[in-house]
Amino acid sequence: MIISNPKLKRLVQKYRQIRLLGQTRALLDWDLNVNLPPKAAQERADQSAYLAELVVDRWMEPEFRRLMDQVKNKKTSLNKEEKAIVRNLEEGARYYFNVPKKIIVEFEETSSKAFMSWKKAKEEDRFTNFLPDLKKLIKLSQIVAQHLGFKSNPYDALLNLYEPGLTTKKCRQIFNQLQPELTKILKKIQKSDHYQAKSGLVSGKLSYPKETQRQLTQFVLKRMGYDFASGRMDVSPHPFTTELSRHDVRVTTWYHQSDFRDSLSAAMHEGGHALYEQGVDIIYSSTPLASGVSLGIHESQSRFWENQVGRNPQFLKFLMPTIQAFYPDQLGQVGEERIIRLFNQVKPSLIRVEADEVTYNLHIALRFQLEEGLINDKIRAKDLPDLWRQKMKQFLGIEPKTDREGALQDVHWSYGSFGYFPTYTLGNLYAAQFAKKMEEDLDLDQLVGQGELGTILAWQREKIHQHGSLYWPDELIKRVTGEGLRVKYFLEYLQEKYKKIYDL
Ligand code: MG
Repeated sequence: MIISNPKLKRLVQKYRQIRLLGQTRALLDWDLNVNLPPKAAQERADQSAYLAELVVDRWMEPEFRRLMDQVKNKKTSLNKEEKAIVRNLEEGARYYFNVPKKIIVEFEETSSKAFMSWKKAKEEDRFTNFLPDLKKLIKLSQIVAQHLGFKSNPYDALLNLYEPGLTTKKCRQIFNQLQPELTKILKKIQKSDHYQAKSGLVSGKLSYPKETQRQLTQFVLKRMGYDFASGRMDVSPHPFTTELSRHDVRVTTWYHQSDFRDSLSAAMHEGGHALYEQGVDIIYSSTPLASGVSLGIHESQSRFWENQVGRNPQFLKFLMPTIQAFYPDQLGQVGEERIIRLFNQVKPSLIRVEADEVTYNLHIALRFQLEEGLINDKIRAKDLPDLWRQKMKQFLGIEPKTDREGALQDVHWSYGSFGYFPTYTLGNLYAAQFAKKMEEDLDLDQLVGQGELGTILAWQREKIHQHGSLYWPDELIKRVTGEGLRVKYFLEYLQEKYKKIYDL
């Protein structure tokens, strides 16, 4: 894209270096997750930390800051895209301009140490081994929040690092609205005659060979419109998507021999993230408009493909002959209804990443309450395992026996990423609101029933993907749906869908 203001042009060139370093670092991380020989972990951590340091230096370069100040004063003379570039740069730089370098470096060092201690603590199921590093990260996050500034709650400053404009108050409103309704839906489903907490089709004697799973996920990804010439699919301990450049957006999945759903759902989820990145207008490449706008909006794209499409009964009917062709011995004689309920199984579970659509956000509500308490010193880190058990009992009616399935289960706190979790719930809410709007323009059920996913992608491309980071989340949701984010669309989606599936 053509930028006429010479100072802004120079800024965008400087930003490009930051982006190149970031993408190079992302390649190291991808390799760490997909290929790295086990003995090379420390060496890779050193390489990655060095690149991270270079990124910090680039953001903190005096010329960068000088240019930012100059451009900020000229804002009125800029066009819409240029203004968005300045806004995004200001947002990106806020952390580096306000937090002292000493703290940033300490944070990086502590979190890379904490990742190791968390990993070991989780393996050994010993929370106390992670506790010292966790305490340090909480303290550092509190300091960071003070430097970033906030109106009423330091947790706001951290939420804002992940989702521009998000506040504790807004999160609280969302979870207060969600929690009782989700519990109600869950209880209704559990009372249904069709309710089955377990299925003989998965996690039992039946085996689904990895190679067959790979072919099936590849088939679905292609059908979704994922461009394999601008990406690839690999295997990693936890599925993820990474954007290494405009034409290199990679996804990973995982294969569980006894449950063929996991690889498919993960690939559709990551595929949704990837479609967003592959769909940004090419003229924005290398500018601060190039990527998806926020974690919440990004997650809405992945959840849409995973749930609104992947778990849609009509889509499963479409996919049924293919699934049966891939697994003739395991599923050849199984009826549609069983497969539909299998993909839409609802039950309280201990592990967030394995949770269904109904209970998932209860896992997030729990983490939100704990994080907010920690950052405000209302909760002590050492009490986390007990509090976790209490809240699991309260929200989901089950309790973990180990901390591995409790306070140690997620990697996020070892990175010091407090304020990240709520973006997952935002993603689910945005997804439902976008889908509701999409249904005014398209017959979603009919399209997925015919496997016509291209029409759906074209809608997303036009309304969401092409804009990259031009519009901020609040602006984007209003532009696309005509109103700000509302909880009710997600609840209506769940109520309608599960009413049909479970005859509620
Ligand atoms: Mg995701």
